[in-house]
Amino acid sequence: MTIRTDNLIGGGWVRSDSGREFDVLDPATDEVIASVPLCGRSEAGRAVDAAASALPSWRATTPADRGALVAALGRAMLEDIETLAGLITGECGKPLTEARGEVGYAAGFLEWAGAEGPRVMGEVILASASDRRIVTLRQPVGVCALITPWNFPAAMITRKLGPALACGCPVVIKPAELAPLTALHIASLAERVGIPAGVMNVITGDAAEIGGGLTGDARVRKISFTGSTEVGRLLMRESAATLKRLSLELGGHAPALVFEDADLDLAADQIMVSKFRNAGQTCICINRVLAHESVHDALAERLVERVRALKVGRGSEEGVEIGPLISDRGVEKVERHLADARASGAAVLVGGGRVAVPGCADRFIEACVLTGLTPGMLMWREETFGPVLGLASFSDEAQAIEMANDTDYGLASYLFTRDLSRSWRVSEALDFGIVGVNDGAPSTPQAPFGGIKQSGFGREGGHHAMDEYLDVKYVSMRVGDEG
Ligand code: NAP
Repeated sequence: MTIRTDNLIGGGWVRSDSGREFDVLDPATDEVIASVPLCGRSEAGRAVDAAASALPSWRATTPADRGALVAALGRAMLEDIETLAGLITGECGKPLTEARGEVGYAAGFLEWAGAEGPRVMGEVILASASDRRIVTLRQPVGVCALITPWNFPAAMITRKLGPALACGCPVVIKPAELAPLTALHIASLAERVGIPAGVMNVITGDAAEIGGGLTGDARVRKISFTGSTEVGRLLMRESAATLKRLSLELGGHAPALVFEDADLDLAADQIMVSKFRNAGQTCICINRVLAHESVHDALAERLVERVRALKVGRGSEEGVEIGPLISDRGVEKVERHLADARASGAAVLVGGGRVAVPGCADRFIEACVLTGLTPGMLMWREETFGPVLGLASFSDEAQAIEMANDTDYGLASYLFTRDLSRSWRVSEALDFGIVGVNDGAPSTPQAPFGGIKQSGFGREGGHHAMDEYLDVKYVSMRVGDEG
């Protein structure tokens, strides 16, 4: 199948108005994989024109027909899993096995939303006046702009696209500059399964220009954004003038609490799953492990043993578990966090150095475990976004909760215990949108993924995802006594 490198606007595959392009690089080698259009404000405007023109007929399409198309797109992605996985590994560097896993996960959101669309219902509300009847309608919000990051180039799109389309909202997608090819390929599959022209538009290019075009256009009624907290705040400010609805899935900084009664092998396995996926470049990956003082050393030993076994290399190579970081900026941040932790007394138990991979760029970092993490360190405060795990110890449950909540972020958190009462107590006390209890991979299409505090608001997945793309309208009817 041909890989599309042009943009999809109103059913047409187009280049930018200026003819300018930018290169998409393989982060492992810096090799140019493709060049895609460098679009800006005018193309964003045309994409919104296309979506706005598609709105009346898409809104009028039955939920069953819309849901069938959304589900068909999910199936098409699964049928084309090898192409998509190759693109994901090529443009974002993650190991091929993980990329295949991402395609399955991404398709799951389309399957779920396709089935959920026909189940969107209103209510009949009993009115206080006997001559009144009140019904609620749940209607599509209208044209939506979906802005996505590079680290899950398929799933971050489908988590938004599925519910938006299933609810009747045409979309304009702006994928990340570092990883736009997966998005363009999903758009070509959408065209193939029969999603009508204008319902799904994808434009690549200058983030500030496209972003400004989308936030400034009153016809865009909703922005759903996944990315950094900084850009989330900017989009919120820019959206204020036209009062758009917003979903902001922002940065995370997850703690994992390991209690004295935990199954330490299970905890170590699940911490590995959470921390080192995509070389630690995920929003829900664990940054801080807080272990009870009586199990801290035994847990650290288990983590070191597992980390030593991780294979670093090009994502396309069989058996590789840690690929390159996405950029030199990403490498610099990880090394800054490491140097800061070391300078403040942390002890590196394993890893942390660069690994030279033959024929590749200098962007590979050995998975690392360090102990002695303290609140003054950058790793305690900021998302490291790399394969570095820091440990600290606590002496009782209250202290563990206080340490875990000592962050501005509130996306994911984890706890490991065999005590059911403690599972409930601590889950309720953690200030995060997601809690994994003995579970390092809590994200799934059926669950309402999302954060609180500086990790944003809005939910993706589950029936909650549909609310993000629906407005509630109520109709109050006066009913006379006589026939
Ligand atoms: P980012 O720099 O915020 O970029 C995200 C998207 O926003 C990209 O498409 C980017 O475009 C675009 N963007 C940048 N400036 C913009 C502007 N002025 N107007 C409109 N759009 C703009 O984030 P990233 O580095 O790609 O992704 C990593 C971050 O995402 C991390 O903080 C991670 O925790 C977070 N994340 C959160 C979740 C979640 O569900 N909560 C999931 C995954 C990742 P360009 O690429 O073209 O600059």
